[in-house]
Amino acid sequence: MIELIEVTKLYKGQMVPAVDNLSLKVEKGETCVFVGSSGCGKSTTLRMINRMIEPSSGTILIDNKAVKENDPDKLRMSIGYVIQQIGLLPHRTVAENISIVPRLHGWPKEKIKQRVDQLLNLIGLDPEVTRNKYPSQLSGGQMQRVGVARAMAVDPPIMLMDEPFGAVDPIARNYLQDEFLRLQQVMKKTICFVTHDINEAIKMGDKIAIFDQGKLVQYGTPQEILSKPANDFVSDFIGYDRVVKKLSLFQVKVLTRRQRCFLSESELTNLWQKIKDEEAEVCFLVDADGHSTGFVTREELARQVTTSVDTESLEKIRQIALSRREAFVRDTTLLRDALSLMLELDTEYLGVWESGKLAGMITLGDIRKHSCGKGGE
Ligand code: ADP
Ligand code: MG
Repeated sequence: MIELIEVTKLYKGQMVPAVDNLSLKVEKGETCVFVGSSGCGKSTTLRMINRMIEPSSGTILIDNKAVKENDPDKLRMSIGYVIQQIGLLPHRTVAENISIVPRLHGWPKEKIKQRVDQLLNLIGLDPEVTRNKYPSQLSGGQMQRVGVARAMAVDPPIMLMDEPFGAVDPIARNYLQDEFLRLQQVMKKTICFVTHDINEAIKMGDKIAIFDQGKLVQYGTPQEILSKPANDFVSDFIGYDRVVKKLSLFQVKVLTRRQRCFLSESELTNLWQKIKDEEAEVCFLVDADGHSTGFVTREELARQVTTSVDTESLEKIRQIALSRREAFVRDTTLLRDALSLMLELDTEYLGVWESGKLAGMITLGDIRKHSCGKGGE
């Protein structure tokens, strides 16, 4: 656990403190994201935790022990630190870069070698290919991953990450974020993560601390912050799309309706009967291989077919169903992305895949209720 108690940092020659009377607690195993515009004191806060900067006043505790009672070098060796500039040594190989801290700890050679390979595997780089390369031979994303591996080398319980994915392009960043979230589910490290990007904060944080000019303006879970911004500054910082942002906190599975009414092409004439019998809102059309090729809704059916089912109306129904070929998402898709797809395809329903099987559907109405509700958990 990391605790800051009334911490202030006034740099020499500055009139206003970079960090102003900050109190904050980061629970063990949680990721706390410090977010705010440039110059609001995020990096200063982070660097006071591992004593790269000393506070002007206040106390910082790690597991209830004041950091200033620790030797700064020992403290830094026990805390992983990742920065945007990555800071890999250019004339050292990837393996040498990763083994800096283990060497300081005096680990035997063989143990270091094993750990380097283990870490490279963990971050998705082939040790055989990567370990003897120099940083300049890697892509930005690969360098960033090596930076993360280096910070994790001695498996420190605490990691400080200062805009770790800030220097890579959006696609690589998204990928690195996903990978890091996956790792963190297993590692359960206590992490302070700095970013100026509110979307990254919402994605990565168990808790978010919003800073403004050295002061903490709000501290809470992403959902709390999106549902109840503390003041106008926070609302503005989050942006007008806060409802949509909140939808990025949940996966489709929380709203999947387990309703599955299937019909093969050859049974199309029975569609109306089937949909009535099963009291279904939508009916999925399946091809000969049992794959769903689209769906029609009860409403659409009512519009096309009244009493008799003629060839022409059947063809229309078939066309409507087939126009929904793309209208499927996975149960792990974010609600935000499902909503986006509904708008793009102009449909109020999407089929939902779960481990390769059609599990049911998600509806626009349910997404709307979820986002207007008290937060929807
Ligand atoms: P952030 O990481 O949120 O962008 P910083 O913590 O780097 O912000 O900086 C906070 C404030 O402190 C800024 O106004 C910055 O100019 C100032 N500052 C940062 N480092 C120093 C320093 N070494 N000396 C004087 N002022 C500094
Ligand atoms: Mg900074």
